[in-house]
Amino acid sequence: MSTTASPSPTAGSIPPRVRLVEVGPRDGLQHEAGSVSSGTRVAFIEQLADAGLRTIEVGSFVRPDLVPQMAGTEEVLKGLGPREGVTYLALVPNRRGLDRALAGGVRAIAVFTAASKAFARANIGMTIDESLGKFRDLVADARGSGLFVRGYISTCWWCPYDGPVAPAGILPIARELLSMGCQELSLADTAGAATPGEVRRLLELVLPEIPAGQLAVHFHDTRGTALANVLASLELGITTIDASAGGLGGCPFAPGALGNLATEDLLYMLHGMGIATGVDIELVRRGSKLLETALGRKLPSRYLQAGPPPRRASSGDAGA
Ligand code: MG
Repeated sequence: MSTTASPSPTAGSIPPRVRLVEVGPRDGLQHEAGSVSSGTRVAFIEQLADAGLRTIEVGSFVRPDLVPQMAGTEEVLKGLGPREGVTYLALVPNRRGLDRALAGGVRAIAVFTAASKAFARANIGMTIDESLGKFRDLVADARGSGLFVRGYISTCWWCPYDGPVAPAGILPIARELLSMGCQELSLADTAGAATPGEVRRLLELVLPEIPAGQLAVHFHDTRGTALANVLASLELGITTIDASAGGLGGCPFAPGALGNLATEDLLYMLHGMGIATGVDIELVRRGSKLLETALGRKLPSRYLQAGPPPRRASSGDAGA
């Protein structure tokens, strides 16, 4: 056997720095059974900003009767006030939502469509084309008002109703969102079913046309593959990753299972690989603990529960 290690095909291609988009205060809280007060939401978001997170999804301007967890997003924004270097992102489904976002002083919004027809119908009550048609004016108006616009494409790999989603269907949706003015696209594994080979296949299809700098990945850990999927994405040059503090959110399609990849678990892997994020993992953990108290339950992040590993013994073998 040769003693010379040959470099792995991906060596050197892992980006040295990654940008996290923290989605816990919106995508996470929205899928929790209990609501937390606006004051707690503000304290949570401030803690995440203190930790160094620079893009934080703070709420959504949807109908409070449909999504009671996000009622009071105006109040949350008022409580936060602007913060140098931090972008607060809010989900906006329609014109009325955009008006509310603008009145609340939001500088960045996200719109949301799906790659699966069945999911679009069930989740946003329209076809994919209808949703894109509706966003065209909305995104133009938002951009005209100087807002940053992110587009989510949910169910990029797997639909909770229809099963596997063909990668070829993603590109036309992505193209359309970019052409209407979205500046960043987040490709989401809503069902938490993707595995690294599938992640690679889709990214290899999309990346020749859409630069990595305009793409984010949003993985769910429902079946334990989120970090492996992040690694596959990093190896293809993706540098923006969505995550949710504490793993807030759960999975609406598999009660009791995990949803969003936990910010702490992602940070632990990235920092261990020498990838810079500018985020302090222990300060994120402090934010997650605030939410554990408010929700009255343990959050699923492994790092949150386990804490930092014991310091390596200076000599000898600690055992397997
Ligand atoms: Mg999610």
